[in-house]
Amino acid sequence: MSWDIAVNRAINNAVPKVYKVLREHPYIEELAKRLREAKLEVLNNLEKYVEETLQSVKSNGGNAYYVHDEKEAQEIVGKIVGKGKIVVMGKSMVAYELGIRKYLESLGNEVWETDLGEFLIQQANEPPSHIIAPAIHMTKESVGKLLKEKIGGVDENSKVEDMVAVVRKFLRDKFVKADVGITGANAIAADTGSVLLVENEGNIRFTTVAPQIHIAIAGVEKILPTLADAMIEPLVQSAYAGLYPPTYVNLTSGPSSTADIEHNRVRPAHGPKEFHLILVDNGRVKANKDNILREALLCIRCGRCHFHCPIYRAIGNIWGDPPYSGPMGAMWSYIVKGDTKPAMYCVHSGNCKEVCPMRINIPRVLEYIKNLGLHSKGKLDYK
Ligand code: SF4
Repeated sequence: MSWDIAVNRAINNAVPKVYKVLREHPYIEELAKRLREAKLEVLNNLEKYVEETLQSVKSNGGNAYYVHDEKEAQEIVGKIVGKGKIVVMGKSMVAYELGIRKYLESLGNEVWETDLGEFLIQQANEPPSHIIAPAIHMTKESVGKLLKEKIGGVDENSKVEDMVAVVRKFLRDKFVKADVGITGANAIAADTGSVLLVENEGNIRFTTVAPQIHIAIAGVEKILPTLADAMIEPLVQSAYAGLYPPTYVNLTSGPSSTADIEHNRVRPAHGPKEFHLILVDNGRVKANKDNILREALLCIRCGRCHFHCPIYRAIGNIWGDPPYSGPMGAMWSYIVKGDTKPAMYCVHSGNCKEVCPMRINIPRVLEYIKNLGLHSKGKLDYK
C-alpha cells in the first residue's frame, strides 16, 4: 500500500476533528493566544528562564543539566543509564534528534519505544513520518504484517483493536522490568521545575512512574514562565492535534514524594527515586537570536500544518530531517542540522500559516532559510 492511501485516511480523520474541537470549545483559541505570549516572554529572556528552571528542578530534589549539543546530551544520558539496563522511552522528538536510543543501544542497553507509532517504526527500522503520528505512513494492513513478523498474534487482516492489544501485552512486561524511563516534555514551568506531558496511550504515565529513574529531555523552547502557563500547553496542543480532550496530562515535579508523616515532605515514595531534566540547546539559542528564525521556536508540535500542506500530502515522509517533517520540519531541519534543503520544497501556499495555533509565519521563515541556502555556495543539494 502506498503513502497516499495511509496519509489520506489519516488526514480525512484528523482535519475535521480539529475544526469540531475549536467549534465546541471556543476558549481554546484564547488559550492559544496566551500560550504564544508566554512563550515569547521566555524567548525574550531565555538565559534567565533557563537558569530559573535549572534551579527549580534542583530545589525539588531533581537533577538538572544544560547541554549544547548531541554529544553532551548522549554523554549525560549514558552516565545516568549505564550499561545492561532496560530502558523504556515515551515519544520524544528531542531524544530522536539527539540519537539517544541508538546511543544507549550501543552501550549494551535494551531500549524500547513505547508510543505505539514509535514502537512500530522502531520495529520496522524506519524514521518517523509525522510529529504526532510517527507511523502515519503505514496502513493497518502493513502494521498487521509487521506485527505478525515481529511479535505474532495478528496478521494483515486483523482488526486494529487486536493489533493494539498484542503490542499492549508485549510492552507491559517491558514497563514492569524497566530500570529507566526517558520522555520529552510538552512544557516546563520555570517557577516550579515541573514537566508537563500530554498523551492518550498511557505509555508516558508508565514511563514516568514505573522505573526507578525518570529522565526528561527537552529543548529550551519548551520552558514557560509559570506552572499556570505550562498547564495551558497540553490543552492547546491536544486540541490542535484533533485529540481533545487528551486522555492523560502528566505533571512531574522532581522524584516521587510523600508528606504523609507529620506533613514533612520526603523523597522518594512509590515512583522514581531519581528525576533528571536535560535542557537542550542544539541550535535553538542561535535561532532565538535571529528575529525571523525565532518564530519557529514557538512551535508546539501539534502537527496541524502538515495536514494542510500540499507538499506534505504529496511527498510526506521524505520531506525533512527525521524526526522533523512537513512545514514545521523544514524550519526545524535548519535549526538543529543547518539543513536548508527541506525549505526548498515549499511552494508558499500559505495554508500552514493560516492554521498554525501559534500564528507562526512559516512561509516567511522558509523563504528566509531558502535565501540562506542559496547564498551558501556548494552546500545545496537537491537530491
Ligand atoms: S508550526 Fe504551528 S501548526 Fe505546525 S506543528 Fe508547529 S505549532 Fe503546529
